[in-house]
Amino acid sequence: MSNPSKPNTERLLKQSHTNMPMGVADSYRYWGEDNTVFVKSSEGCTITDADDQTFVDFRLAYGPIILGYRDTRIDQAVVEAITTRGTISGFSTDLDSEVVELIKEMCPNIEKLRFANSGTEAVLGAVRTARGFTGRNKIVVVEGGFHGLYDEMMWKSDVDNWDNKSGKAPEIASFGVGIPEASREHLETVPLNSFEAIDEVFARVGNDIAAIVIEPILGNCGSIASSQEYLQKLRDMCNANGTLLIMDEVKTGFRVGKGGAQALYGIHADLTTYAKAMGNGYPVAAFGGRADVMDVISFGVKGVTHGGTYTANMVALSAAKATLTVLNETDALDTINKAGADIQQVLSRVFTKHGITHKFAGPDSMFGIHFGDVVPTNYRDWKATDSELYTEFAMNLIKYGIMLEPDSREPWFICESHRHVDLAWLEDTADKALAEAIVT
Ligand code: PMP
Repeated sequence: MSNPSKPNTERLLKQSHTNMPMGVADSYRYWGEDNTVFVKSSEGCTITDADDQTFVDFRLAYGPIILGYRDTRIDQAVVEAITTRGTISGFSTDLDSEVVELIKEMCPNIEKLRFANSGTEAVLGAVRTARGFTGRNKIVVVEGGFHGLYDEMMWKSDVDNWDNKSGKAPEIASFGVGIPEASREHLETVPLNSFEAIDEVFARVGNDIAAIVIEPILGNCGSIASSQEYLQKLRDMCNANGTLLIMDEVKTGFRVGKGGAQALYGIHADLTTYAKAMGNGYPVAAFGGRADVMDVISFGVKGVTHGGTYTANMVALSAAKATLTVLNETDALDTINKAGADIQQVLSRVFTKHGITHKFAGPDSMFGIHFGDVVPTNYRDWKATDSELYTEFAMNLIKYGIMLEPDSREPWFICESHRHVDLAWLEDTADKALAEAIVT
């Protein structure tokens, strides 16, 4: 660590290195010896690091914070729940159905639902349910999507190491060692928005495809959106081939609108996964959808197994109930969308001033920024954007107190508290950060 203005961070990182691999509790939190962040407190749309630098945060823990940090409407509900009811009992409670009914009201395509503790677990549950229902093995995923950390989802289109002028498709690579080759056996990958690729995979193995798993808006690839026609094509292909459509709304659910991305498109999945925004930062997740499909979850050799010690615990469900109630009953999502639109306008002015061609992608509550002439239509196209300039710009923003992931594949997340952001300050800071990025 060579940043003398961050002595506490330096000390904490040094200590952590003796305690955890890479000195962090989650590998994605390691940003190198000079840039790894230790957070001491948070409030509204800000986080403060161990050396008392406060950042306006557009990373929001990769999306869960939808209202703001330490929102008393949620925190008080959680404290009230756990101090009167305890955390877990290993039995059912009245809250289980209450939260499901709230979700059913907001997402009309959900008929039955089960809870989980993380997005990873929700996806695993949905995929297992789809396989159990269809009796098939294969799943089709979209390049640039991310569906969690279990083995089968630890394969990716290796665009980082791909020569986009080669005329060949990117390799499919594992996220690292420890992922058995066998976990790839039932996985097919397609580029987003390509009708040709989806026709090809159905022609080849259509009879064995249990499900297509897709983030309808690629929250892990710069918020590149499915076209309306593409999502409809997936729906039609699934209907025609006895395949289930699973929409992974871990990032988009309860964020891009009350009913998530599906409500924006008016196209329904058979199964949907939720996490992040449904608990404003408390660890809660869920998967659900068609009752006939979900009812395959049961005991016995013909049933799909699902459960877990911490599933539907009081912390998770009280947070979900409070968060979803606010999102359902107030204009919080409108406020978030308006703040997101205002922020994009400011940034666009700065980019234009410096002659940087740029495109925004995705909804205002989680927008991607792409430096280049066209909005990428899939992960392969993203490779043609100037992501290096973006990273320089982002690192400068961080230096000046605006937190974001310095990778253009991660969107800017907006929460209700961002309505208080000083847009003139944002414009000046972005101007300075970009000017410096262009010079270097
Ligand atoms: N699906 C999507 C779309 C995600 O973005 C993520 C995490 N970023 C996951 C699943 C996995 O969620 P978790 O980290 O809670 O396991």
